[in-house]
Amino acid sequence: MTNYTNFKVETGADGIAVVTWNMPDKSMNVLNEDVLTELDKIIDQVVADSTIKGAVITSGKDTFSGGADLTMMQKMLSVFKKEQKQDAEKAVQNLFDNVGRMTGLFRKLETCGKPWVSAINGTCMGGALELSLACHGRVVSDADGVKLALPEVKVGLFPGAGGTQRVPRLVNQQDALQMMTTGSSLTAARAKGMGLVHEVAPAKKLVETAKKMIRNGLKPVQPWDEKGFKLPGGAIYSAAGANLWPAATAILRRETSGNYPAALTILKCVYEGLLVPFDTGLKIEQRYFTHILQTTEAQSMIRSLFVSLQELNKGARRPTDIKPTKFKKIGVIGAGFMGAGIAYVTAKAGIPVVLIDRNLEAAEKGKAHSVDLITKEMQKGRMTAEDKDKLLALITPSADYAALDGADMVIEAVFEDRNVKQAATEQAEAVLGQNAIFASNTSTLPITGLAKVSQRPKNFIGLHFFSPVDKMMLVEVIMGKKTGEKALATALDYVRAIKKTPIVVNDTRGFYVNRCVLRYMSEAYNMLVEGVPPAMIENAAKMAGMPVGPLALNDETAIDLSQKILKATLADLGDKAVDPRHVELVNTLVEKYDRLGRKNGKGFYDYPARPAKKHLWPELATLYPQQDADKVDVETLKQRFLVTIALEAARVMEEGIVTDPREADVGSILAFGFAPYSGGTLSYIDGIGAKAFVKLAKKLQKDYGAQFKAPKLLTDMAENGESFYQKFNPYKPADKAA
Ligand code: NAD
Repeated sequence: MTNYTNFKVETGADGIAVVTWNMPDKSMNVLNEDVLTELDKIIDQVVADSTIKGAVITSGKDTFSGGADLTMMQKMLSVFKKEQKQDAEKAVQNLFDNVGRMTGLFRKLETCGKPWVSAINGTCMGGALELSLACHGRVVSDADGVKLALPEVKVGLFPGAGGTQRVPRLVNQQDALQMMTTGSSLTAARAKGMGLVHEVAPAKKLVETAKKMIRNGLKPVQPWDEKGFKLPGGAIYSAAGANLWPAATAILRRETSGNYPAALTILKCVYEGLLVPFDTGLKIEQRYFTHILQTTEAQSMIRSLFVSLQELNKGARRPTDIKPTKFKKIGVIGAGFMGAGIAYVTAKAGIPVVLIDRNLEAAEKGKAHSVDLITKEMQKGRMTAEDKDKLLALITPSADYAALDGADMVIEAVFEDRNVKQAATEQAEAVLGQNAIFASNTSTLPITGLAKVSQRPKNFIGLHFFSPVDKMMLVEVIMGKKTGEKALATALDYVRAIKKTPIVVNDTRGFYVNRCVLRYMSEAYNMLVEGVPPAMIENAAKMAGMPVGPLALNDETAIDLSQKILKATLADLGDKAVDPRHVELVNTLVEKYDRLGRKNGKGFYDYPARPAKKHLWPELATLYPQQDADKVDVETLKQRFLVTIALEAARVMEEGIVTDPREADVGSILAFGFAPYSGGTLSYIDGIGAKAFVKLAKKLQKDYGAQFKAPKLLTDMAENGESFYQKFNPYKPADKAA
């Protein structure tokens, strides 16, 4: 047996080396520099040892591997940027060489002359799947939940360690493109059906099955290295290719609006790579990867969607000197739409929940929501009857506040009414222990105000969930003026326990997310009033990278809620705070036409019975004189949406509501899907550069109004040539703005 730091190599009497990948101090195996160096040595060892006939690589953990450690890419880039200042050409050459390291290693493995089989015991992602594809055989465990994927496109990259060349040489091009451009996961059965893996085996017999492949004479030569190799599904210049390629580019355009350079590059790698010998294909891939890594999109997406997301999930903003809370019991008050969802995600995390409503019937109805959700999960094969029993046993519905006794934290989700909330706070505090935390899920009422009725405002905090609670991954943690560090730590521990992502936000009207979302919808109102055809408004937003058009989104959140918010803003902040044209628009929709949104089947859209699809309400275009669609500049519409939201995010930073750019970025993507390719609201500004962004905002301000006025923070940053990640550097607390 040979021990490496990350691997163990054991060769049995049958001459087969079992290489077990098990990184110390990591919950999941990842490909990093040390792993690559050791793997290189192991290949040499297997080749040099004449008693070894072949090798099986597997993992010593539950999962096979999550793929490459993306911080390795970040390091490569920072070296590149430094070298670039001295010698640009040499810097690119070095980057190209570094990018090719994994490619070269995997090619070495598949041409080493001895057979390798990957025994995939659990989820296998990205670079780890590319490693497996370089093996001559692949066996996957049939255990529940084993997934295979090349998800690089989701962080602005693409499979650049041979993936774009091996996948379409193993499976037909259509499946290959779909798998790589969407980054979606495959089950073991689907991977086998496609031809991506050779066998699916019971978990217990996995390594044995892999060994058997070698014993049965597995050839140490890949199909593409054999003479006369033919592509599955036909060559590029074949009838099948002629059918596929024009459609493939069109579909990609439809799905991405050209916003994701890496996705397009997958098509280029496959198309160009399949026209040339394999090694040339690898070079083509390596060149494109070197280019993609340098794009703003890749850098911003890696930062927000991988690095920052992980940091926030691991508690980057948690006060370090407070002991972690182990939750024995959580109370949820209000078993309505939100409270029922909160009870479900809490029980799913294995925490006992008491779910309180005004009467037992209402509380039980809230628990029944969990039954519905579990039934759907079971239909998809994601939960078992045993999971169901376990989860439901953790939820105790009750109408008696006394049942909250002993809870570590209570989350209030009663009606959005100060008096009702006050009563809930008082009744809960009467039974809760002195150290218990009280969290409100209010969406509009400032936490500082609600905390005034609390006996212990230090323990009072906001936990703003988004609907539907089971799907939405973000929670805004709202700090009232008097909220203490212990409350913050407990709230963050809870969000971590339920596997969601927290952002810490200081108290303000609308907090962070809703302030941005309101800007988005408000700009759509402006466009409607200007007579921009409604379909153009929706399409422009989607072309800008937003997942849901602003009018469709407003239908989901309800138009009468927008009316309420406008009225409240008018009452609290005066005439100047709202645009009378917006008031007129929502009043017309709500009062004259009873169009409240999706909830009453009538909003900006009509909602005919299924299977018919929703469509824009035809009368909407008659409310305002319409502009000639050919004369409306779509690029400007796209900019207006992204800029108005990004400006609000900048204001939120200026006001100290959000203090860490990672939170503004990640929050904007998780909560309302802000153009993910940009890396989020602040990365969008950083990507354009403060100076150019302010110039653009000024132009929009001149043409479309004061909503585009850049805050002083931004004009200062433009003058000083600063970015958000420099000015509010999250890694140097001392540099942070107050
Ligand atoms: P809802 O009307 O569906 O549910 C409220 C529940 O509270 C009802 O079941 C009601 O019977 C119960 N209730 C009222 N008074 C009570 C009391 N004194 N004690 C116990 N239970 C009581 O409302 P919802 O949509 O779930 O919203 C709840 C809270 O969450 C509100 O503050 C809302 O602003 C906030 N919120 C809502 C959303 C959303 O999308 N709906 C999103 C984020 C936050």
